[in-house]
Amino acid sequence: MSEQIVSFDSVSKVYGEAPNTVHAVDDIDAEINKGEFVSIVGPSGCGKSTLLHMTAGLISPTEGSVSFNGINVQSEDHEKHNVGLVFQEPVLLEWRDVRDNILFPIEILNANGKLEQSVEAYKDRADELVELVGLEGFSNKLPGELSGGMQQRVSVCRGLIHNPELLLMDEPFGALDALTRDTMNQEVLDIWRKTNKTIIFITHNLDEAIFLSDRIIVLSDRPTSIEEIIEIDLDRPRDIQYTRQQDRYQELHSEIYSYFREE
Ligand code: ADP
Repeated sequence: MSEQIVSFDSVSKVYGEAPNTVHAVDDIDAEINKGEFVSIVGPSGCGKSTLLHMTAGLISPTEGSVSFNGINVQSEDHEKHNVGLVFQEPVLLEWRDVRDNILFPIEILNANGKLEQSVEAYKDRADELVELVGLEGFSNKLPGELSGGMQQRVSVCRGLIHNPELLLMDEPFGALDALTRDTMNQEVLDIWRKTNKTIIFITHNLDEAIFLSDRIIVLSDRPTSIEEIIEIDLDRPRDIQYTRQQDRYQELHSEIYSYFREE
């Protein structure tokens, strides 16, 4: 049996105070297994980021709870340092070079006494990650000298530098052109395979979700709840061109697309 890493138990989120409330998430129950790649898709503004931010422990549910390795993420015992985040925008510090941007979370963890290895060991790890995402030779460049795709690669490295078990990615490639997005999708699968992480990935791009995932959680309009959870039974390793040409890929695409058309 697969081991659970994240569990959503009757999770709801209402923002604000009456009468100006926004009911974003409504009664979500789901489990994510260790090592899984799960995408969350749903209409714009339905509550995807809200769900991810609750998973990271950045905001708290109004009702219910999110657990990570069996511990409520709102409790003091939650291992925050075991979760990595990649946002929609790279949010890099302009005055720091690539390597120092990647090492930024290490400085914070070090200040909080949460580092598992020496700072020196993380510097070596930063160099390995730079290589893993194909940015060799760019360690000393400033963010302003990089393309959008390269900046997002740096932010993926920053999300992985502390070797978290779980990586949360919030529409990380939404701002990239289609070709760069395809390249990044292939790279993310490569990173996932090499590092054995669990990844929860938000997107509203169905092609991206199907190509990457073991399962896709389809969310309804706001207040969002789970419309369906779909197993993506396409062979791995996947190749962006080959996989998209498979009949099964087209079937899955039509099936998931129909949920959006019904709304
Ligand atoms: P998605 O990621 O699916 O686009 P979000 O989770 O960002 O959706 O937002 C869901 C809903 O909650 C939206 O209507 C948004 O305006 C609202 N919302 C998000 N954050 C806040 C907040 N801090 N205060 C009030 N409403 C918010």
